[in-house]
Amino acid sequence: MKPTNAVIPDKDLVREMDVAAPRYTSYPTIPVWHPAESGEAYADALRNHKPDIPLTLYFHVPFCPVICHYCGCNTAKLECAAQTAEYVDALLREIRLVRALLPQRRRVAQIHWGGGTPSTLKEDEFRAVLDLVRESFDVEDDAELAIETNPMTCNDEKLHFLLGHGFNRFSIGVQDFDAEVQRKIGRNQTYERTAEFCGLIRAHGVRSLNFDLVYGLPGQNLGKAADTLSKVTRLAPDRIAVYSFAFLPTLRENQKQIVASELPETDLKFDLYLMTIERLQNAGYAMIGMDHFARPEDELAAAWRAQRLRRNFMGYTTNADTDVLAFGATGIGDVSGYYYQNEKDNTPYYERLNRGDLPVQRHITLDADDHIRRTVIMDLLCNGIVRKEAVEKRFSIGFDRYFDLELSRLEPLAAKGLVQNGPAAVEATALGRYFLRNLALVFDNYLDGRKGPAKGATFSRTV
Ligand code: SF4
Repeated sequence: MKPTNAVIPDKDLVREMDVAAPRYTSYPTIPVWHPAESGEAYADALRNHKPDIPLTLYFHVPFCPVICHYCGCNTAKLECAAQTAEYVDALLREIRLVRALLPQRRRVAQIHWGGGTPSTLKEDEFRAVLDLVRESFDVEDDAELAIETNPMTCNDEKLHFLLGHGFNRFSIGVQDFDAEVQRKIGRNQTYERTAEFCGLIRAHGVRSLNFDLVYGLPGQNLGKAADTLSKVTRLAPDRIAVYSFAFLPTLRENQKQIVASELPETDLKFDLYLMTIERLQNAGYAMIGMDHFARPEDELAAAWRAQRLRRNFMGYTTNADTDVLAFGATGIGDVSGYYYQNEKDNTPYYERLNRGDLPVQRHITLDADDHIRRTVIMDLLCNGIVRKEAVEKRFSIGFDRYFDLELSRLEPLAAKGLVQNGPAAVEATALGRYFLRNLALVFDNYLDGRKGPAKGATFSRTV
């Protein structure tokens, strides 16, 4: 199949554009949110939810059978069965609290289970949550039911349970199939079991199968990565997310088990990145957004071509704007122009719910400027284009005047051939699509302290 985007950046440009930057799953980004004293602001946002905006429900499950050395997620080793039972009780309490604050039953377009490893929940625990969700909300007939799974710890029985309960999108964290790389990151996931797991999912005719890959892991080299990529393309997932490994051992205790000297040097990391995008495109995948690849017939690729891709905390989506209600420790939600994150540790999460309080730990209510910039940044990250007239009409501003400073900051990037600032639109070029985060940075009003500093923020690098 022909490559869908033949332009590949050269290494000098990749090196130059490799800076620390937010991934912009939200704007404003989490480090500038404020500590929450109570769940009252979230309660108000729920009371104000507009009925015509469908909901995405996110459930976070912070348990894994073993903790991988490279993990950057909020999770902990599952020590005993009683832990998930206690956690599910809290989830049920949180759903009831939230439902009681919404003015009426609401439509749900998407349900996403992430973690951690959601399949650590037992079948009756899943059933209890799913039943309460259906009792409390109108789940659309064609709703997307997505779950992150690990073929090594989700057995066939559990998988059949999930398939039987309507899960239609499965994400598998592959990272790297090489046994030595896996040993260095504390993981064991064979190609054979992954292939068998994918076969069971495919046989059920599910809507979509997604893989996550990571480059920059200890022990990776071009030969091993090429082997992983050929195995991945043989399994033909519909979507592939490709992430750069963020090595932050001062923030992540488990990453101290990674031997820093075994990490690929910067040059090799760039080569791994470039080889990955080239091989996936040669295998027929379209690069969409900033770090995703999809088969051309996949609805995400179609949405990218039609410039109607959207992004939320779970990644890229074809669902038109939804509000996100997050449940569980660490869950991040977005409702009625209000972002919140739940308590990160299970103990305060349980205590807050026991007191009848929504367990919000930090939050922010967007002001008018945040709304404008969120639209611009999401348009860039999702579709590589910001149509000036649409922004002007929606927010009653003159685009060029409002963004006078930002447009002048775009000029050096335009000189490198990454972006064009025309009379009607700011648009990433084919080359600029590899550097959408760098373009989005220009429109962030917090990073240079113009609007308040991002205190203590540590962002991953763009490459
Ligand atoms: S399975 Fe995933 S969430 Fe769990 S420890 Fe490993 S990387 Fe982290």
